[in-house]
Amino acid sequence: MTAPELCELGHIPELGVVPKKMHAWVIRKERHGPPLESYQREIVDVPEIAPDEVLVMVMAAGVNYNGVWAGLGHPLSPIDVHKRVYHIAGSDASGIVWKVGSAVKRWKVGDEVVVHCNHTCGQCHRCNGGDPMLCQEQKIWGYETPDGAFAQFTRVQAQQLVVKPKHLSWEQAGCYMLVLATAFRMLYGHPPHTLQPAMNVLVWGGSGGLGSMAIQLIKAAGSNAIAVVSTEERGKWCMEIGARAYINRTKFNCWGQLPSTKDRVPYSAYLKEVQRFGKAIWEITGKGIDPDIVFEHPGEQTFPVSAYVCRRGGMVVFCAGTTGFNLTFDAAYVWMRQKRLQGSHFATLMQADAANHSVMDGRVLPCMSEVFEFDAIPKAHDLMWKNQHPSGNMALLVNAPATGLRNLEETRQFAVAS
Ligand code: NAP
Repeated sequence: MTAPELCELGHIPELGVVPKKMHAWVIRKERHGPPLESYQREIVDVPEIAPDEVLVMVMAAGVNYNGVWAGLGHPLSPIDVHKRVYHIAGSDASGIVWKVGSAVKRWKVGDEVVVHCNHTCGQCHRCNGGDPMLCQEQKIWGYETPDGAFAQFTRVQAQQLVVKPKHLSWEQAGCYMLVLATAFRMLYGHPPHTLQPAMNVLVWGGSGGLGSMAIQLIKAAGSNAIAVVSTEERGKWCMEIGARAYINRTKFNCWGQLPSTKDRVPYSAYLKEVQRFGKAIWEITGKGIDPDIVFEHPGEQTFPVSAYVCRRGGMVVFCAGTTGFNLTFDAAYVWMRQKRLQGSHFATLMQADAANHSVMDGRVLPCMSEVFEFDAIPKAHDLMWKNQHPSGNMALLVNAPATGLRNLEETRQFAVAS
């Protein structure tokens, strides 16, 4: 079959037939700003693949904060990183292998896959026996690389693929990997501070993407997740997915950067409020029992509290600074109580694969909240940017023509029936 110029969304050509062009949501430098402005639908070339790469027909994708940052062009423009004049965002996808590079051995055309977003050189000592997240060329696909998930086809390295859990629909499979694998590395990737049974873990943003995955991993390990949320509704949702308890952060007023430790009066008032928050944790864990791990990502607004409430010798692990990067903390409480402050970034294939198995065996659910059509991709990002999104992970239909379809066969049958 000769390759068509362009396929309409949801039209699945013969297996392995690659059109020349594709529909995509495109960010350009001159449009950086809120998602409703920065994202525009365009028709662009289908990417060419290198020998170690795979072309994936994207069936569904996920919404995560990378897509918000990429649109805003803050703290940096992805276009300045990869230097192509336009950017296709999207760091989560499920789909079908549509073409493989000449060096790819592990995957074949037709395989149904989930994409993880760690892009590395594959050749250095870190990638071979070390920690690939420490590879000098490590990048996040769909953020620091130009061809992400919000298009009919995407170009990924062969090592970015894991098997799609068969029981999930395309959209369920496309919405969880980025946050799940990140949470997995935060909780298991920094020995000796790894998740053990009967630990207490404070989880900021418990109803968010990262938080919902962390709560389930913590529960599966036989530990206690204490979720922090901003509404009762979100708190109750966290309990439904396995949190031991939740704390509503709006009942406390100890947020933002640490006041100067030299201004004793305001500092003491601040410390009292932090201790009140700490006591709310003790009401759950028992008097004097502080969290073994603090699962941190809001950043500037919460970091001083995280560093204070973490137990002696415990770890504050953080992967973001959503509310700001100028993190502050009272150093005396960190050195004297010998706490570890640990940065963490996405995950390796090994960690993504292990995390994916917890989805395959049903211990972790994707927590898919709402499914958006391809045309609503900017709207979904707008909701996330404004912290108005529903609990869990939002999913996006790309080539999947309807919800609930789980594989290529079902997708083709649906096309014939309709
Ligand atoms: P999300 O689904 O929007 O969840 C974030 C949660 O943060 C929200 O549910 C919100 O819950 C909470 N939050 C918002 N403002 C807050 C504040 N002022 N104080 C305390 N909590 C606040 O986002 P996500 O997908 O979990 O991602 C969170 C961050 O992690 C983003 O910046 C993202 O870019 C980053 N991230 C980094 C990596 C990495 O590999 N480095 C991977 C994934 C995500 P409440 O309002 O209910 O408290």
